[in-house]
Amino acid sequence: MSQHYQETAQSDQNQQSQTVASPEKPPVEKLFLTLRGELILPGDPAYEAERKVWNGAFNHYPAAIGCCMDVEDVKTAVNFAREHRMTLSVRSGGHSIPGHGTNDGGLVIDLSSMKTITVDPSRRTARLEPGLTWGEVANALQPFGLAMTAGDVASVGVGGLLLGGGIGWMVRAYGLTIDNLRSVELVTADGQLRRASAEENPELFWGLRGGGGNFGVATAFEVNLHPGGTILGGAVFYEATEAERILKEYARVAAAAPDQLSTEAMLALAPPAPFIPPDKQGTPIVGILVCYTGDLSEGERVVAPLRQLATPIADLIAPMPYSDIFALTAVGEVPGLQHHGRSQFFETFSDEMLQTLVQATQSILSPETVVSLRVLGGAMSRVAPDATAFAHRDKQGVVLVTHFAPLSVDANSLAARTQHVFQALSPYANGVYASFLANEGEQRIREAYPPDTYARLVALKNQYDPTNLFHLNQNIKPTAVSTS
Ligand SMILES: Cc1cc2nc3c(=O)[nH]c(=O)nc-3n(C[C@H](O)[C@H](O)[C@H](O)COP(=O)(O)OP(=O)(O)OC[C@H]3O[C@@H](n4cnc5c(N)ncnc54)[C@H](O)[C@@H]3O)c2cc1C
Repeated sequence: MSQHYQETAQSDQNQQSQTVASPEKPPVEKLFLTLRGELILPGDPAYEAERKVWNGAFNHYPAAIGCCMDVEDVKTAVNFAREHRMTLSVRSGGHSIPGHGTNDGGLVIDLSSMKTITVDPSRRTARLEPGLTWGEVANALQPFGLAMTAGDVASVGVGGLLLGGGIGWMVRAYGLTIDNLRSVELVTADGQLRRASAEENPELFWGLRGGGGNFGVATAFEVNLHPGGTILGGAVFYEATEAERILKEYARVAAAAPDQLSTEAMLALAPPAPFIPPDKQGTPIVGILVCYTGDLSEGERVVAPLRQLATPIADLIAPMPYSDIFALTAVGEVPGLQHHGRSQFFETFSDEMLQTLVQATQSILSPETVVSLRVLGGAMSRVAPDATAFAHRDKQGVVLVTHFAPLSVDANSLAARTQHVFQALSPYANGVYASFLANEGEQRIREAYPPDTYARLVALKNQYDPTNLFHLNQNIKPTAVSTS
């Protein structure tokens, strides 16, 4: 093993590899001959930008970034990484919270150029390539009066979110994003293109709906669409002096609301935004974000109690095209900030849990903090826990504690503040969403996948990726001994 490869392999605790690094530096330049897309190498003008990912906490130097244009490019890159035993990152939108879209000394398969979307409005279906972002998907569907439930931030990629689950603006109305998946086209570790659906490779299709990037590189997704058009959306902001009462009331109203209403609450310091009165900027606030799909006057009635939890300091709730709702979370799109996040599921948001949340958050709140809570349920909870690899169907709530900050801010202090709230909530928590995990180790991955689910995922991993080529993810380790 060359000195460089040995050092980088050891220095990166994020890379849970079972793949042994090559004794020779892989001849990545050979990919120039076969890849239709651009191959970006160290020293190229684009390298500095392309080696980075959304989470600025990860500062890695891959040996090459292969920008794939089509399935043939993906096959070429997968075969190359496998044959040369290279560490392999697969990235679509680059928003992996643990920075899995880049690595040291390995190959990155970058799918961000694969952005074709084909809409069939009469069947209400679409074919999405993985490099699209959810903002691009929403914009493309809006003229058809259609939409697709996904995450809440426009710049998140189709590839990563669709394989992980997808808790979004319409989760109670239409379920998780994976619940609307019809089929996946996938290049597996052996370089073969496969199709997975309810009819073809059904067990693989089961695992792809929640199992993340463990089984191959997805090159296209066929999805069911929903009515979109105009929704009642936006946010209402309150001073946090009564945060505990407001959140308890929020949880009660949101859980009892019809499925058409999906919501999120957040605790933060008020940003210096034009809609916040100047004397309130920088003070603690509670925000309630809403998305109601359906009849707008009925939506006004359903949403009204959430607008009257106290005297609002700003109320931005209004009818809007679905694609406009992402403006509310544009702060999440800023690339290059360090991000320290930890998340947990909850059976329910009990009064005691919410009191603990507010107390723990108040003691660490800084301009970098965003604590978000979502009341789940609705369509998401009516899918059987064993129907997909996302088994936490019964969870009524999810909390994500985050700190976003420039790289100059002390990382240890941000991580400690995140951890403080996480630990306070732990006695009430049960499970975690794999796509909200940071690098938290195998035990936490097992909390994302209950034992029966985990065992099925291991069996799939043994079948489709026995050497763990696809290990830069929330990794399901294969147990089969491979001789290849
Ligand atoms: C700001 C922000 C907001 C978020 N909001 C939400 C939200 O509202 N709801 C929600 O459910 N999630 C949300 N997430 C989590 C998000 O779903 C995951 O981080 C997701 O993996 C990001 O997908 P990506 O394609 O952008 O990231 P990437 O970094 O490109 O991919 C993440 C991982 O997914 C796998 N992967 C990506 N593309 C492919 C592919 N084509 N084939 C095989 N494997 C692939 C790889 O393992 C890769 O490491 C958010 C994340 C961030 C950073």
